[in-house]
Amino acid sequence: MKKVLLIEDEPQIARFVQLELQHEGYDVTLAYDGRVGLEVFKASSFDVVLLDIMLPSLNGIEVLRRIRFTSTVPIIMLTARDSVMDKVSGLDNGAYDYITKPFAIEELLARLRSVLRKHSVPTLLSFKALTLDVDQHECFVQKEKIELTKKEFELLHLLLINKNKVLTREVLLEKIWGYEFDGTTNVVDVYIRYLRSKIEDPFNLKFIHTVRGIGYIIKDEVEPHE
Ligand code: CA
Repeated sequence: MKKVLLIEDEPQIARFVQLELQHEGYDVTLAYDGRVGLEVFKASSFDVVLLDIMLPSLNGIEVLRRIRFTSTVPIIMLTARDSVMDKVSGLDNGAYDYITKPFAIEELLARLRSVLRKHSVPTLLSFKALTLDVDQHECFVQKEKIELTKKEFELLHLLLINKNKVLTREVLLEKIWGYEFDGTTNVVDVYIRYLRSKIEDPFNLKFIHTVRGIGYIIKDEVEPHE
């Protein structure tokens, strides 16, 4: 069953779309504001997100931006008629498609089918000798399975989907640990060490580079361990 996250603050539209999609066999989760929608997204996994733009607490473009930080899930924006800026901004920020309100439910269903047909979410992420199976939460180095804890996996996953981009300690802390720690903790460094001891040291490989004073990066060059 395909899982849809619908983030829409107008209750009538939200309920209507939810019922129609459920009728078509989708598993629909509903969130009425941007912040909650983002939390729900982080806490589960979805095949597609339907995202309204005008939302309380966190607007749709901002939700889109934050989802894109950690995920390639297809996102269809629900935009108000004639709001060209919203459409452009949505597509610029990585929306897959948009649909203009008011829309016929058949049109939405057609877009959904199309997006799900075209966009198979990559479940295997590979980088050199490293492979993550995102669905199974499994990690392999040189085809050898490596046991990672949930946090280690999330950390590695985040670095991997942001390949070639430096992630600061603050960002890693916020994305993986959220509210739990303040900026003075070295928990990120500790977990990077755990990761290295599992996926790098035993293989004499280097995937994660330290950017001194800033954070970490996985980048397109594998140097032998010093
Ligand atoms: Ca709205």
